[in-house]
Amino acid sequence: MTPKRWITIGVVLFVIMTIQNISVFIMTEPGSLEKMGAPGDIIRLVYLAWGVFVGLHILSVAMIAIGVLKKQKMNTDNDIQKLKSKVARLETQKSFCKNCGNGIKNEKFCSKCGFKL
Ligand SMILES: [Zn+2]
Repeated sequence: MTPKRWITIGVVLFVIMTIQNISVFIMTEPGSLEKMGAPGDIIRLVYLAWGVFVGLHILSVAMIAIGVLKKQKMNTDNDIQKLKSKVARLETQKSFCKNCGNGIKNEKFCSKCGFKL
């Protein structure tokens, strides 16, 4: 997956889970299921569902973090690649103009300032 996709999915999931968990938090009084006399299995199921919601919430944050880290790594790799190609370009230029410092390959005159070599 691309870093952008990690971040996009992470943000979408984060928004959904934030709304979900806030609404659950607001609507549910602690112990209300027990007071209603809900069966133990149902209560355990509800707690399990909340555990999953909280897990997804944490996962969404982790996904955003992974996306950001991947993006940073990609940028660093790009920078290294740019530097490598710059070094390779400089290495092909065998000498430099004594007048202006321009890279010279096999010319008799500097292509930048016209200095005779
Ligand atoms: Zn020159």
